Amino acid sequence: MQMITFPGTDITASRLGMGCMRLPVDGDKIDRPAAIKLIRDAIDNGVTYIDTAYGYHNRESEIVVGEALKDGYRERVTLVTKLPVWLVEKPEDMEKLLDEQLEKLQTDHVDFYLLHALSWGSYEKVRNMGAREFLDRMIEKGKIRYPAFSFHDDAEAFRKIITDYPWKMAQVQMNVLDEFNQATLEGCYKYAEERGIGLVVMEPLRGGALARNIPDEIQSLYDQAAEKRTPVEWAFRWLYDKTPFMTILSGMSNTEQLMDNIRIFSGAEFGVMTQDEKDMMTKVRETYEARVRVGCTGCEYCMPCPKGVKIPNIFRSLDNAAMFNTLDGFKKRYAAMVEKGEGANQCVKCGLCEKACPQHIQIRQKLAEIHEEFAE
Ligand code: SF4
Ligand code: SF4
Repeated sequence: MQMITFPGTDITASRLGMGCMRLPVDGDKIDRPAAIKLIRDAIDNGVTYIDTAYGYHNRESEIVVGEALKDGYRERVTLVTKLPVWLVEKPEDMEKLLDEQLEKLQTDHVDFYLLHALSWGSYEKVRNMGAREFLDRMIEKGKIRYPAFSFHDDAEAFRKIITDYPWKMAQVQMNVLDEFNQATLEGCYKYAEERGIGLVVMEPLRGGALARNIPDEIQSLYDQAAEKRTPVEWAFRWLYDKTPFMTILSGMSNTEQLMDNIRIFSGAEFGVMTQDEKDMMTKVRETYEARVRVGCTGCEYCMPCPKGVKIPNIFRSLDNAAMFNTLDGFKKRYAAMVEKGEGANQCVKCGLCEKACPQHIQIRQKLAEIHEEFAE
């Protein structure tokens, strides 16, 4: 397993990180014996970066991670969890939540503590409640070693947040389809790597979509490569080829996925991709993008619709389904939206939404087409 040292810290961790948001389940609870075994197997096979969060698995993930890290496993890993900023209503809530997390994790400190899923708005909220001073105090008290944040907003928000405090790590959504989304690959280079801030990647497989239901035209691109690799391997390879990424999280659910990832990451070197491979991955992205049916960015400027049509939900859900070959699933989701009175059939064609859409989508026409094609 390749190891990475995070700049400005004394943390050296594995390139593959275990994300504990998709642990094995039994009904709606974590299958605790299976999850504990999986986490320990990962550590025994060289994974030393363990990532969890307050909210994962309905708040059960931290408890299970705490159990798994007993018997000497805690000392072998970089342990990471996150403050649920949406639950912070007053300044003192932050330490209260952290104390609860430390108790669940059965430890006196975490190595990286992240403000979770920041947008500029959510950051501003906790910043005004003293989040930066809170992080300083917790470092002084020894409850956290290094401050960090995870991020879901645009490149400008990334720049503003990352330059606002001496962070030691930023966790971003990145994969071949998100090169130009959210923090953007360029933003990661410019605002994190160049400033000596470590990066952790989440959603390397876009929630698994890059691993399943591969459209024929994309599979045929993979088939033409000189070296044969699985779609999962191509997705990870595209990432670890890029210099700024320190650790790549994978939300593993079973031993087979774990062992496959261990195999893939045994060759996880910077700069391994040939020009032909890079060109192929660009074509993979473009081919996925060409499958999009509407091109809605989910900005929600068109909302609210006076008739209750959930315009972005319908469009984004269809675009995802079209990209990832899951139109049957969309049909079911659309039926549920219609039943709740949120479907395209509620549209009275007032046109208010189209005036607000920065993408100039012909919303009324698209909605009518979608209803015609997918309504039961
Ligand atoms: S045109 Fe239809 S979808 Fe758009 S705001 Fe009017 S009722 Fe809602
Ligand atoms: S305004 Fe346009 S791009 Fe934005 S959510 Fe609505 S339809 Fe999508």
